[in-house]
Amino acid sequence: MTSRSMPGTDLAATIVKATAERAAEFERLTGTKPCLATVIVGDDPASVTYVKMKRNRCAKAGITSRHVPLPEETTTEQLVAAVRELSEDPSVHGILLQHPVPAHIDERAAFEAIAPGKDVDGVTMHSFAAMSFGEPGFASCTPGGIMRLLEDYGVEPSGKHAVVIGRSPILGKPAAMLLLAKDATVTVCHSRTRDLPSIVRTADIVVAAVGKPEFVKGDWIKPGAVVIDAGYNEGNVGDVAYAEALPHASLITPVPGGVGPTTIALLLEQTVTAAFAAS
Ligand code: NAP
Repeated sequence: MTSRSMPGTDLAATIVKATAERAAEFERLTGTKPCLATVIVGDDPASVTYVKMKRNRCAKAGITSRHVPLPEETTTEQLVAAVRELSEDPSVHGILLQHPVPAHIDERAAFEAIAPGKDVDGVTMHSFAAMSFGEPGFASCTPGGIMRLLEDYGVEPSGKHAVVIGRSPILGKPAAMLLLAKDATVTVCHSRTRDLPSIVRTADIVVAAVGKPEFVKGDWIKPGAVVIDAGYNEGNVGDVAYAEALPHASLITPVPGGVGPTTIALLLEQTVTAAFAAS
């Protein structure tokens, strides 16, 4: 069996190139650029870096970004009000509220203040329901990027057993729904799952979304399985022990350079889609 790394960089570049062309077309037609509002609460260094990176990519694709940094002590009410204001502002086409917000804030309430038509990060209940029912709407960017990666590498989920490790509202759960929509048989695992290695050993497709460095071991991987590592931990380490897993997998995403680039590409693509839909 040949094992292959499955980078997402080329796919992301293709999506960003097409998005930049659509952004230029939007500007030609309307006289304004598509606009993404980025909201960040507090100064968590990783979040600050992620938002900076997303804004830089926006600029390169011809999308403006309006940055709304809020102090750590922001209340739920204040954050909801700030997000609502952006939802009602016609010059803003997409809204990204950087996850996670400080623990004292009701993140769900803040996400739900994003107007569905501007939910380009796919975090609202509306977007989740649309995704789950296969209706039009914005995909949660990381799971959406994972599905595009599978497609790009010719991996057909239909009939396969997909095991998703993690059930967060932004990653594990939507990834499971998108795989189900593609006719995979899906098992969702979490911190209370018993004998996780045995379950993972039955997977044709593994999606690791745990947030623990090198948590998924090489000998958990069924020979020939496709391994998608959505994890990103300090020191550029994923949730899968890559070197151990590589010889078992047919395809495996590297960290960095796997899922991450496609996540950002999807955010830009969906921002331009939102701009066209609003115009
Ligand atoms: P999260 O909200 O902390 O969720 C982690 C999930 O892992 C939870 O569902 C948790 O189960 C489960 N889990 C924890 N310990 C486990 C164990 N021992 N066995 C099985 N499951 C376990 O994290 P997240 O936001 O989904 O992020 C997950 C990872 O993806 C992180 O590394 C994050 O940095 C990365 N990420 C990457 C991107 C990207 O663009 N590439 C985007 C977002 C996140 P419970 O529900 O039972 O607690």
